[in-house]
Amino acid sequence: MVKETKFYDILGVKPGCSQDDLKKAYRKLALKFHPDKNPNEGEKFKQISQAYEVLSDPEKKRIYDAGGEQALKEGGIGASSFTSPMDLFDMFFGGGFGGGRARRRERKGKDVVHQLSVTLEELYKGAVRKLALQKNVICDKCEGRGGKKGAAEQCPTCRGTGMQVQVQQLGPGMIQQIQTVCSECKGQGERINPKDRCKQCNGKKTIRDRKILEVNVDKGMVDGQKIVFSGEGDQEPELEPGDIIIVLDEKPHPVFKRNGNDLIIHQEIELVESLCGFQRVIRTLDYRELVITAIPGEVTKHGAVKCVMNEGMPQYKNPFEKGRLIIQFLVKFPDTIAPELIPTLENCLPPRPEIMISDLAEECVLLPFDPEQEARRRSTKNVYDEDDDMHGHGQRVQCATN
Ligand SMILES: [Zn+2]
Ligand SMILES: [Zn+2]
Repeated sequence: MVKETKFYDILGVKPGCSQDDLKKAYRKLALKFHPDKNPNEGEKFKQISQAYEVLSDPEKKRIYDAGGEQALKEGGIGASSFTSPMDLFDMFFGGGFGGGRARRRERKGKDVVHQLSVTLEELYKGAVRKLALQKNVICDKCEGRGGKKGAAEQCPTCRGTGMQVQVQQLGPGMIQQIQTVCSECKGQGERINPKDRCKQCNGKKTIRDRKILEVNVDKGMVDGQKIVFSGEGDQEPELEPGDIIIVLDEKPHPVFKRNGNDLIIHQEIELVESLCGFQRVIRTLDYRELVITAIPGEVTKHGAVKCVMNEGMPQYKNPFEKGRLIIQFLVKFPDTIAPELIPTLENCLPPRPEIMISDLAEECVLLPFDPEQEARRRSTKNVYDEDDDMHGHGQRVQCATN
């Protein structure tokens, strides 16, 4: 029994729901109503935040359930004691959501994200990859001033504000003011006389530079994993440089498919091997050879799955522990068998089932049927053609029986 359900309603949950449900509800709504995505929903974002803060705290929740919002206020938990919605969001998401961090550390440059394509072999054995990047660095000639010492002067166009205000007349007595970034100084608020500009950076304060990064791809890393080079992003005067973030992109492998730390392969075997046993050599991702042997007397069925322990992918940060190598067997059946060999073959196999055929049973002919081809045909033909098609089939069946 709760006194009021407002906070529960805001999050779209029922009183008595689990902490997990609360977290899920908050995550979904907070992402949806975050001011970065929904600038006009600031109030809603705040409500979501406060509701979650109360309901996720056992003590506050107890007070709220017993006496509602009024009891919280009387208990000293009023509007001013709430965590700021943005901070709560950053705490919840670990500061990983775009704008969240930029807001807190505004004096930091942008992060630069690069994708690095890696093979499964590299993720298995580990690798060092060299990556050549272009980045902005502070011009060493003018030390980031853009010109001679003291050459910078206040931009006359915007008077140092970096912004320009344009006034437009929309109609009699109606004007519109538009604020734009100053075109003269590009928002810098200052400019350098062309003759005083640094020759190396042309007054831009930074120059493009080539940088080689050594990326350590550790054993067991996964697709999408981030490797962060702190402070290696573009340099800008008066800004702490951002990070270079390398995101791994795992290339598909022709033989092995990865599922977490397990590796999956498909192994074709002949029918004789499926019945009478087989051996196969499997080349691992670090080019060792593994021999697998069927248990004598055991039939390996089409689609059967077996595994080898500790021959999968190494665990990240614990590479001596490996996942499983999972092998699915695909049996290749022969298309025909010489009729004179059938009795011999039959002697070796379990007996056929006996079937009873009554005098009334009708004899039919089996024709090949390819479901995939059938589906393709259906998707390309219209209703009338399909009708024709059925006639066609009927005729062929008749021909065959005659
Ligand atoms: Zn310069
Ligand atoms: Zn200006």
